[in-house]
Order: sequence, then C-alpha cells, then structure tokens
Amino acid sequence: MSEYDSYGSGDELFDDVNVESLVATTKRARAADDDDQQQTQQPDKRIKTQNTEDTEHNTIANEDIDDEVLGRLAKTALKENFGFEIFRHEQFAAIKSSLRGHNVLVVFPTGAGKSLCYQIPAITFEKVDAINGRGGMVSGITIVVSPLIALMKDQVDALLRRGIAAACIDSSKTQDQVQLTMAAIRKGQLRLLYCAPERLNNEGFVESMKHVPGGVRLVAVDEAHCISEWGHSFRPDYLKVARFVEEVKAERVVCLTATATPRVADDVANAFNVQKSNIFRTSPYRPNLQLCAESGMTKQGKFPKIFAFLRKHPGSTLVYVTLQKQAEYLAADLIEQGFDAVAFHAGLPTDVKVKVQDDFMAGRVRIVVATIAFGMGIDKPDIRNILHFDLPATVEEYSQQIGRAGRDGKPSYCMFYLCHEDFYIRENFARGDLPSLQSLRRLLDDIFHRPAVPAVEGNVIKLNQTALGQDYDIRSSPLAILLSTLELRFGLIRAITPEYTSYKFEAKHGYLMKNPSTVNSKEEKAILLNAKKAITLYTIDVNATANSAGLLRADIIRKLNDYHDSGIIQLKTGGVENRYKILKPLPNTAKEIDEITDKVYIDMQNREEDALKRTQEVADLITGDKCFALSLAQHFGMSLPDGLTKCGHCTHCLTGKRVILPPMQPPPVNLKGIFNILQECNVRDDPRFLARVAFGIKSPRVIQLKLHTSKVFASLADHDFKSLLKEFTKACEAANFKNEDRLPKPTARSSVGKKAGKYTGKYTGSYAGKFTGSYAGKSTGSYAGKSAGKSTGKYGSRYK
Ligand code: ADP
Ligand code: MG
Repeated sequence: MSEYDSYGSGDELFDDVNVESLVATTKRARAADDDDQQQTQQPDKRIKTQNTEDTEHNTIANEDIDDEVLGRLAKTALKENFGFEIFRHEQFAAIKSSLRGHNVLVVFPTGAGKSLCYQIPAITFEKVDAINGRGGMVSGITIVVSPLIALMKDQVDALLRRGIAAACIDSSKTQDQVQLTMAAIRKGQLRLLYCAPERLNNEGFVESMKHVPGGVRLVAVDEAHCISEWGHSFRPDYLKVARFVEEVKAERVVCLTATATPRVADDVANAFNVQKSNIFRTSPYRPNLQLCAESGMTKQGKFPKIFAFLRKHPGSTLVYVTLQKQAEYLAADLIEQGFDAVAFHAGLPTDVKVKVQDDFMAGRVRIVVATIAFGMGIDKPDIRNILHFDLPATVEEYSQQIGRAGRDGKPSYCMFYLCHEDFYIRENFARGDLPSLQSLRRLLDDIFHRPAVPAVEGNVIKLNQTALGQDYDIRSSPLAILLSTLELRFGLIRAITPEYTSYKFEAKHGYLMKNPSTVNSKEEKAILLNAKKAITLYTIDVNATANSAGLLRADIIRKLNDYHDSGIIQLKTGGVENRYKILKPLPNTAKEIDEITDKVYIDMQNREEDALKRTQEVADLITGDKCFALSLAQHFGMSLPDGLTKCGHCTHCLTGKRVILPPMQPPPVNLKGIFNILQECNVRDDPRFLARVAFGIKSPRVIQLKLHTSKVFASLADHDFKSLLKEFTKACEAANFKNEDRLPKPTARSSVGKKAGKYTGKYTGSYAGKFTGSYAGKSTGSYAGKSAGKSTGKYGSRYK
C-alpha cells in the first residue's frame, strides 16, 4: 500500500469541521454575489446521479447552447491554457458532452490524454455560465479522485505552471496547507481539487464539499475501473465515490480509465449513471507492438530463454514477475549474466523505488524486473521490450503492462513465456482470499457485538483490521471488501475517519524546555502532563488525555502536529483503527447473523472462481487459435481497425499455429500426504485451513501457528485444491463427530495461539487403513517436492 494514499496523518484535520459554520461561511460568500440568483439557478442545474429513469432530462441547462459555441470554448481553452492545436481521439466529443452536463466515461489507453477531458471543462464552466446568464458568480469546483499521490502532485504542478488554480489534499499535507486550500475553496479561488478516495471517508471533508460556493461542477474519477469488482484492481473505497457524488450533488461526472472490458464499463456506467452514448473509447490496438508467446518450457527453462531474448533484442526492457522475491532473484540472475538490471517492487524503501524509476526513465539502467507495482505513471516513450516471466492475473493487467512498450510508435516486442507452473501462484492467491465460512461467521459475530462507543459523529464501533485478519484468518483485501459490503450493500455502518491508536514522539530541545505550569494552551498542558517517556520515545494516550483534560481528541492531535511541524517533536503515528458509525441496529440473533454470513460468503466464493477464470482467460488468449491482437481487442469489446482479423506480426499470425499448452492432470489425492498434514496440525474446525496448508497458501492463522515453516506446508501443492478440501472436510467431520463437538468453536482465538501439536486422535485409524494402499508410495512425487521448496522460498514472499 505504500505508494497509495492510505489513511495518513492529516485526515484528522477535518474532524472538527463545524458544519454549521461552513454553511454560514458559504452563505456569506454567496450573498456577496447574489444570493437570490444563486438559489433559483443552482437547483435546476443539478443532476441526480441516482439511477432515475430520466436523469438526463432534468439536468441539462446547457443543452440549448450551440454545439459550435461549446466547441469554440473548448478549443480556446486547449490552445490558450495548454498550448495544443488539436484534440486527440475522442477528447473533443467527451469534453463537449461533459460541458453539456452529461456524465461521461472515457476509455483511452494510457498517455492518450484523458486528463484534458475533465481539465478543460473545469476551466470552461465560467464561460458557459456567462452564456447561460449564470455569469458573475463563483464558478464552483472540480474534484478529481485519483489513487496515487505522486500522480496527483504531478498533475497539480503541471496545472499551476499553466496558471490554473489547482491543489491537492493528501496525507502529506500539513494542517496549515490544508487550511489554506480550504480557505481558497471557500473564496471560490480554486478550479480543481485532487484527493484520494480514502479522503471520502472523512465526514468533515464531505460536509465541506457539500457547501462549496458555486457547487461541485464536476467529479472526475481517475482509474474508474477500480470501482468494479470485475476490474483488475478493485478498490472498495472507490465504491464510495458514487455515494460522494450524490452527497455533494455534483453536477456531472467524468470517469476515466485505460482498461475496461464491456462488463467493467457497464459497472462504471451504472454506478455513475452514464448513458451508452456518452461512453467514449478508442481501440486498444497498437500496430507497433509485436505480441509474441512461447510455451512448453518449465519455469526453470524460462531463464535461458530470457537471457537469449535480451541479447537479441536491445533497448529498455521491463520484465514482469508476480512476487517481490522473484523480482530480486531474477534481477540478480540477469546481473550475473552481464545484463544491466535492477529489481522494483512495493516492498522496497521509497528512496530506492524513486531511484530505480529515475534511473530507468533517464536510461541509466536498461532492465527493470518488476512486479505489478511498477508502471503507474511511468511514461517512458522508448521501452522496447516487455517480458512476462509470470502469468498476469487478468487480461487487463497484461494489456496494461504491454501497453507500456513503444509509446514512441517504434516497433517493440512483448514476449510471454507460459508454462503449467505459472498457474500455481495465481491459484494460490485466489484461494487464499476466500476465508472459511466458519471464520466469516465468527468475524461478523464479533463485529456485530462490538460495544458501541459514543463519539461526535454518533455511535461508533472500532475495528483494527490487522487484528481482525489475524483473529479470523482472513486476508486484508477480502476483509476490506467485506467491510465495504456491510457499508454499501447492507447500509449497516459507515466508515468515518480512522484513528491512530498509537502516538509516540521523540522530544527535541524545544519540547524539553517547556514547562506545563507556564504554557498557555490547555492542549499543551495536557500533552506535557500526559506524555510518558519510555526508553527513547514519549508515548501519549490521546483519548485518555483528551478525556481527562475535557478537550477534543482532534485538538490534542492538532497540537501534536503543530509541535511536529515546528520541529519541537518528531511524531510517529501507528496502529490505524478504523471507525464506523452505526447506521442501523446491527444483526443480533444467530439467525440474522447466519443470513448475512451466507449472503456475503456466496459473493466471496464467486470472487474466488472469477479470479481463477480470469487468469485462465490470459492463458486462453495466448493459446487460442486466433491473432493475439484481435483476441485482445475483442476482450475489450472492440475489433481491429478496418475489420481486419489479423495483425500480421504476432506469434499466431507469423507461425499460422496455436501456441500449445498440453493439459495437465492433477495427481489422485495422496492420502498419506493428507494424513501427514493431519498429524502435523491439530486444527479440526476448519477444513479449508488444512487444505491451504497442504496447498501452500499462507494466511494469518498459518503464520501464527508457524505452519509455513513446517515440512507439510505446500506438500500437496500439485493437487487439485477442491479435492484437498473434500478430504479435509471428511477428516474434520469425522474428528468432530468423535469429539461430539460438531459446532464451530465460539471464537477463532480459542484455537489460535495453541501450538500446532501432533494429532493423536482416534481418527488416525480409519485413515491409516486407507493410505497404506496404492497412494502411499507416491506421497512425495517430484512435483510436490519441487513446489514445496518454492512455496517457502521464492514463492513465499509478499505479492506485489
Ligand atoms: P492519460 O491520463 O490518458 O494517461 P494524460 O492526460 O496524462 O494521459 O496525457 C498524456 C500527455 O499527452 C500529456 O503530456 C498531455 O499534455 C498530452 N496531451 C493530451 N492531449 C493532447 C492534445 N490534444 N494534444 C497534444 N498533447 C496532448
Ligand atoms: Mg491519467
């Protein structure tokens, strides 16, 4: 998550926003212009973003404006503000549509110029207003929701250089900076405001945006595919963007993405009420990319092929792998072979990441071996080769990665090496994201029975996602999706600004010189009296301090941030605790909780199957009997230009043959292997957990029980996962039957923490009988051994 704007310091800055005072402030600003005019004109310009039947009809104040006039305004802005002569692709159509007040969806490849599709409207509203007779008022604001801080900063800098008033509010901003920005917004001085989707969890921020003078003219949703579960990088916080659009009564929405299958485009269009005629897309076909693929080798066999390829094909190269460790190993291998290579992944320190990017951009390093983390915002024109060492998760991911080659239009190679072993990591991830039904049930039970604490926002429950993940053996990404489901689908809770549970600081001279009896402010006094020195750092319990001094938590935090900003202390925050306002009475009875568990679990199971299916689609694209470029275009609901059915230079077109990957049958279930796992691991309440151990899937509970270092971990990695699950289900049922304890234990904690002792139950008997049969000898087949080694070694690292 490091490169995303996560809940950073700065969110608290809105906690104490007083909505009443904002309303008043806004009114004052409007009165200065013309309050009456504002009130009569504003409402009918608003569009509803809910799925109402004829949204478009009650919206358009600009429908009467001549197309030519809008076109002229847009072209003037293009030239005067950006210095460009002509619009590219469908920019012009999208901009005009947006100026008319329609919600639009723009699907252009990266680098094609999506930003102008909202930047030009943002600076043109004023002129359209003047024509509409709405002139002379504050022109309102455009809010851009974008997931990457670095990209937001680049965009804001570029706009400022062009004399366009823009700012971003992100976690790196100090309180003063944020307040300056808010003041500028209140005075109607800002045209564009960039923020991360997480910001929308901040009620103070949402309230402020409801009362912006002139209103929210446009919400631009960058990387809009993140809103779709069927997209390749679903981010639950994106689901809240649509709610935000409604809450702030944004006049229109511009959604932007580089990759959207028809299904994803549908999802985005539904979420933001975009009509078919307002979807603008260009073909993803890139004639200068030569799409190549080879199969039939082993994973090991890919190394010599990559070396040979790189010797033959010069130029800047990205090699994509799935795991962080793999990036490091392969980069080291390449260096050993005399190549100029370096690894990049999200686990590297920020300064190293920045250096790798800079070196690559400047041509100081030729090859970057990267995980999916590399690429967003990389716009190097002369990347000559993209190699795939591992199987991408989805066709969209593949498409985005190869799309980084040859931006300069010169011939470039995309080489894909495919083998059977590739599927293992992908299946490992997909299966690992589905918790067991029992875990989910217990988790929901815990959430719904959390004590509600009164807070400024109302009754609130607090959840620490890391602890929940560990207690209920669920990974962070499905947990985040689950919480957003409770919020958006069931409307039970609503995320509000998270809190840090831990505030520590290093005291500098300025702090040490302060005396609690002589300081002026109550907050300072409270901090000085309550911060306790440990070995080197001071720790302060912010809630307790606020309570005992009768102050607001936000005030204490603000003061700590002030101290930090003025160098008196070095603040270290940690332990994010998510807070949720309770919106409805939470399910309480066993029946209610069972019902919701079942509903949620079905979704999760579908997601698991879907992930596997989508990986298969990547392999199908490469091994299908069709031109690769055509398959790729069709995946996105498009075709090749001029109705062509062949690109003429992909592996399929060049050889006239399919790339073959002969099917591989998983071995029959190794019952001795099953028995060994049951012996090593005494968990009997969760067959899925046992199957994960057998398959080599890490989960919070696996790690807690240290099973990932056990010899049985991944010992059946070559097996069909569902067959494993079936066997372990039988084993657990039998064990629980014997123990007359068929019900799941009340909390996961009961079994977590116990050492994974040897299994010595009676159940041994029946299995012992079975495994002495023909499978016994096969138990350590070569593939299982190999995979096991990899799973704990190269494959055992963190994804991305
Ligand atoms: P995207 O968001 O689609 O990846 P950007 O909006 O960042 O692309 O634009 C990529 C580059 O193309 C930017 O440098 C931008 O200034 C430039 N650009 C966009 N539209 C035009 C145009 N009509 N004429 C010339 N350059 C353009
Ligand atoms: Mg962009």
